[in-house]
Amino acid sequence: MDVSYLLDGLNDHQRAAVSAPEQNMLVLAGAGSGKTRVLTHRIAYLMQVQQIPTYGILAVTFTNKAAKEMRGRIADICPQQIGSMWIGTFHGIAHRLLRLHHQEAKLPEQFQIIDSDDQQKMVKRIIKSLGLDEKYYPPKELQWYINDKKDEGLRSKHIDPGYSLQDKHRLQVYQAYESACQLAGLVDFAELLLRAHELLLENPALLLHYQQRFKHVLVDEFQDTNKLQYAWLTLLTDNDNYLTIVGDDDQSIYGWRGADIENIQRFLKEKQSPVTIRLEQNYRSTGNILKASNQLIQNNNDRLGKELWTSGEDGEPISIYSAFNDYDEVRYVTSQLQTWERAGNKLSECAILYRSNAQSRLFEEQLMAQQIPYHIYGGQRFFDRLEIKDSIAYLRLMNNHQDDAAFERIVNKPKRKIGNTSLDKIRSCAREQGYTLWQASQYLIENNLLSPAAKSSLNGFITLINRFKEETSELPLFQIVDHITQHSGLVAMFEAEKGEKSRSRIENLQELVSATKAFVVPEEEQEMDELTAFLAYAALESGDNQADEFEDAVQLMTMHAAKGLEFPQVFIVGVEEGMFPGQQSATDDTRLAEERRLCYVGLTRAMTKLTLCHAESRRLYGQEKFHAPSRFISELPEENIEYIRLKTQVRRAQPTFEKPKLSITQDIQGFKLGQQVRHAKFGEGTITAQEGSGENSRLQVHFAGVGSKWLMTTYARLEVI
Ligand code: ATP
Ligand code: MG
Repeated sequence: MDVSYLLDGLNDHQRAAVSAPEQNMLVLAGAGSGKTRVLTHRIAYLMQVQQIPTYGILAVTFTNKAAKEMRGRIADICPQQIGSMWIGTFHGIAHRLLRLHHQEAKLPEQFQIIDSDDQQKMVKRIIKSLGLDEKYYPPKELQWYINDKKDEGLRSKHIDPGYSLQDKHRLQVYQAYESACQLAGLVDFAELLLRAHELLLENPALLLHYQQRFKHVLVDEFQDTNKLQYAWLTLLTDNDNYLTIVGDDDQSIYGWRGADIENIQRFLKEKQSPVTIRLEQNYRSTGNILKASNQLIQNNNDRLGKELWTSGEDGEPISIYSAFNDYDEVRYVTSQLQTWERAGNKLSECAILYRSNAQSRLFEEQLMAQQIPYHIYGGQRFFDRLEIKDSIAYLRLMNNHQDDAAFERIVNKPKRKIGNTSLDKIRSCAREQGYTLWQASQYLIENNLLSPAAKSSLNGFITLINRFKEETSELPLFQIVDHITQHSGLVAMFEAEKGEKSRSRIENLQELVSATKAFVVPEEEQEMDELTAFLAYAALESGDNQADEFEDAVQLMTMHAAKGLEFPQVFIVGVEEGMFPGQQSATDDTRLAEERRLCYVGLTRAMTKLTLCHAESRRLYGQEKFHAPSRFISELPEENIEYIRLKTQVRRAQPTFEKPKLSITQDIQGFKLGQQVRHAKFGEGTITAQEGSGENSRLQVHFAGVGSKWLMTTYARLEVI
C-alpha cells in the first residue's frame, strides 16, 4: 500500500515517529513542533501499514474539542470509516467503560454523573448529617479533599484515620459520601476515573480483553496526566500492546489539579524498551515569537530541556502594550481587531487569552458595543444554567429514582409545599435506614410518619415522577423533554417570576428541547439508549459546542483552555504582577514555575502576531489596583519585542458600554418579533427575541434544524421573507 501521502510533508524526525515499528514511544517536543500532527498520522499509519483495525486503537486527549479535532483529522487521512474508533477524553472513555460494564463496576445500570456543583451539595448534606460544623469543615474544602484522594487512587478504606480529630472527621465525610453516592447511583468526575481503574484491576478477564483489543493506546498532552490516569494507562498497556505518549514538560499546567510531570520519567523507567523521539523544528510561530518563548521558559529549572528552531521568518516583533487602565487595554485590543478585519482578515483568526474567566467581562461589553462578533469558551456552560439543571434533574430522577442529587434539586421546585421540616425528616430517615431519598420518602408515606399535608405533597411529587415515566416511555427524547418542560411547572414558575432573566430562562428551556432534538447518539456509543447518552453528554460536554461554528468570531478563552490550539493573531491581556503571575504564585517557586509554563503555552499559541497587554491600573473587586508589568514581560529578549504606548493620556472614562436591554415591542432596524427571515448560512428562521438597541441590538432567531442563535442585527444580514 502506498502510504507516502502520510509521510510526505513531515520532517525526518516526525517521519521516524510516524513510521516507527510497533513499540512504546515517547514524542517529547516543544510547542508547535507537530506532536499532535504526528499522533494523527501515526494512527493512520498503524491502520494502513500494520493493519490495526479501527477498534484496535484508543486515542486519549484532554478536551472534547481536541478529541473532535483529532477524529476529523484522522478521518481526513484514512480511507476507512473511523466513526467507531475510541477517541475521547479520559473522562469520556472511563464513562464508556463503566456504561458497558456497569455490573462489573458495581454500579446500577442507570448510574448518573454529577458535576462539581451537585457534588458540593452532596458533601454539604453529609457534613450536616454527621453533625459537623461547616465552619470547621467547609464543604468546598472537603470536596477538594475527596477529589484529591480519588485522583491519587485512594478510597476512604485505604486512608489511615490518623490521630487528629479533624482527620478522622474528614475521613468520615469521605466514607459517608462514598456510601451515599453508591446508594444513589451517582458518580463524580474523579470517581469516573477511579472506578474505571478499579474495573480493570479487579476484573482480570475484562482487562485481558481490552489489552488484547487495544493494540495501541496513544495519548496527547501527556504532561498533564495525573497519577491515576497514568496507572490506568499503564495497566491497560501491560500486555503485548503499546503506549505512545506525546507531550511537552514545558507545557504542564495542571499541577494544581494533581497532574504529575514525573509521569514522563516513570513511563521511561517502567515501560518496556521505550523509544524517545524529539522534534525540534517549530512550524507554528515566527522567529520572534519562538525566540522569545524559548527565552522565557529558560527561567525555569528542572526542565527536560529542548531547543526549538524555525526556518520561517522573524516576522513582526511582539508588541507590548502598556495601557493606562483596563478600559484602555480593552479599547486597544478592539481597535487592533478592527484593523485586522479591515485588512481583509478573519476575526476567527484572533484570540484573546487571559489568566482567569472573570477577565472576559469588559472585553465582552466592548466587543458587543463595537459589534465585533466573539465567542467565549469556558464561560458558563449551557448545561450549567440553573433552569437547564432543573429540567435535567427531572430527566435524571425519572431515569433513576435513587438519584439523590436530582431529588434534592427538584423535590420542591416548583414549590409544592415540601418544606425544610419534611425534607429534614426524609434526610434523617434516609440516613438511619440506609435508604436513598426516594426510598425514604416512600417509607415515610407508607408508614404514615409525616403530617397529612406533607404526606400528600410528597405523594404528589412521587406520583408526578412516576406518571412522567409512564407517559413518556414511548416518546423520542425531545418529546420527553418537551413534556417535562410543559408539565413539571418549571415554565409556569419562571413565568410567574417575570423580568428579563426569567424570560431568558424559559427560552433556554425551549433551547433544551431543540438541543435534544438535534442530539444524535454518537456512533461509538450506540450501546446506550438515547436518554442515557444525552444525560452523559450534558454532564461531560465541556462547553465546546456553544460556538457558533459558522460565524466569523474572535475567540476568547483562558490560557488553560487554549492548550494545543493555534491562532494567527493572539492577545494576552492582564500581563501584570498580581494577575499573572497571581499574588500567591509570586512567592512560591513551584507555583511560579507553573505560571511561567502557562505563559509559555500562551505565547506559543501565536502564529504571526502576538501582543501582550498590561494595565497600570485596573478595577478589581470594586477597588482601583495598581500593578507593575509582569516579570514575564521582562524575561523576554529586548530584540524580539517593541513597546507601544499611546502619546496622549487616555483618562479613565466612566464605563460607557451600554448594557443590553431587553425589548419586545421595539421595531429594530426593520425587524419584528415573529418575523420570518433568511440567513445565508442557517437558512430560514423566526425571530424569537430582541435585545439591546440601536447598533448594539441583537436578534434571537430560531432556525429549523439548527436551533436558536443570537445574531448582531447589523451583522447578520438577515433577509425578511
Ligand atoms: P502544541 O504543543 O501546542 O500542542 P504540537 O506540537 O502539537 O503543538 P501541532 O499542533 O501538531 O504541534 O503543529 C503545529 C502546526 O505546525 C500545525 O499547524 C501543523 O499543521 C504544522 N506542522 C506540523 N508539522 C509540519 C510539517 N512537517 N510541515 C508543515 N507544517 C507542519
Ligand atoms: Mg498538540
